[in-house]
Amino acid sequence: MFIDFHTHFYPENLAERAISLCKSLGVNPISNGTRDGLLAELDRAGIDYAVGLPLANKPENVTGINQWALEQHGGRIFMLGTVFPEMEKPGEHVHWLYENGFRGIKLHPEYQQFSYDDVALEPLWRTMIEHDMFLVTHAGGDIGFPPPYHSDPESLAAFHRRWPELTLILAHFGSWGMWDDVEKHLIGLPVYLDTSFLDGFVPDDKVVQMMRSHGIDRILFGSDSPWRDQKKDVDFINRLPLSPEEKNKIFWDNARRLLSID
Ligand SMILES: [Zn+2]
Repeated sequence: MFIDFHTHFYPENLAERAISLCKSLGVNPISNGTRDGLLAELDRAGIDYAVGLPLANKPENVTGINQWALEQHGGRIFMLGTVFPEMEKPGEHVHWLYENGFRGIKLHPEYQQFSYDDVALEPLWRTMIEHDMFLVTHAGGDIGFPPPYHSDPESLAAFHRRWPELTLILAHFGSWGMWDDVEKHLIGLPVYLDTSFLDGFVPDDKVVQMMRSHGIDRILFGSDSPWRDQKKDVDFINRLPLSPEEKNKIFWDNARRLLSID
């Protein structure tokens, strides 16, 4: 079984805009950015389930996006929710998400312009811990934003140390483009790393070495579809010299545990 822990799709009326925005940044989307587009890609790649990661670009959109996410949840799609960290009382939205069966939220410190060391956000992290909600965060460089980045390995490691009870899932293998610092600050910490946007940026033998040093139990298969080709990313994990048991953990078992799938 396969779960892709990092996918995006958009309401029909917004998908076209999201797709053309990313094309303008030089990314070639694999689908039209809709739910149906994602489902077709899942079939093509032989993936059973996808985790959909929504994102709120401003506080006033949070309620609507989470409502839409709730409607999208089901079948082969597990949706996460989102908040805008610097909105009024983000914890109330975390509570609503919890009450509606969400297991986690997605945040993007560049897109949402916040810092993990901002003391004003402490109530948000506390509320997430109280509700046992995990956090998926963008990590490292992002082609849509110029450096410096808020989500560098050292900042993320410090955040984890301040909030060790918060289950943290770092996209892009801990911090896109900052691989040496990932090794220095994050490898071996009890945080999850997804594999999105990794193929072609770190040599295969290095990837395997980092995965094993970190602990295969905390690696999640993620593609970042539609910005990356899920089929190619499945092939990427499959070509790594890992055992079938290790691959099964990455493709399925680690995610299954986080999502409580029987
Ligand atoms: Zn993404």
